Amino acid sequence: MEAKKNADVKRVGLNDLLYGGNCPVPKYIAVCPECGDKLHVDAMEWETESGVPTTGGLYVYCKNKEQDSHMYWQSDWQSIINAAEKWCGAVDV
Ligand SMILES: [Zn+2]
Repeated sequence: MEAKKNADVKRVGLNDLLYGGNCPVPKYIAVCPECGDKLHVDAMEWETESGVPTTGGLYVYCKNKEQDSHMYWQSDWQSIINAAEKWCGAVDV
């Protein structure tokens, strides 16, 4: 049952990430650490054969109009990126 659940998460994530791009991250996964708004994610890198996003290859960003003033410090964002990677089913390569 757990395996099926994981597969569903990956499929949904991939469709949104690779074919739509600009994928909204559910707020229960993560919100912007700087303004609390909804985040978006694009996959910049993925496994060639499976199409599964790879860790370190996700671009997580905020679209709030205040985001121009965001600092994107890794200390603030790393845990957010980790959560997004987990949500997308990103794999280590
Ligand atoms: Zn923000």
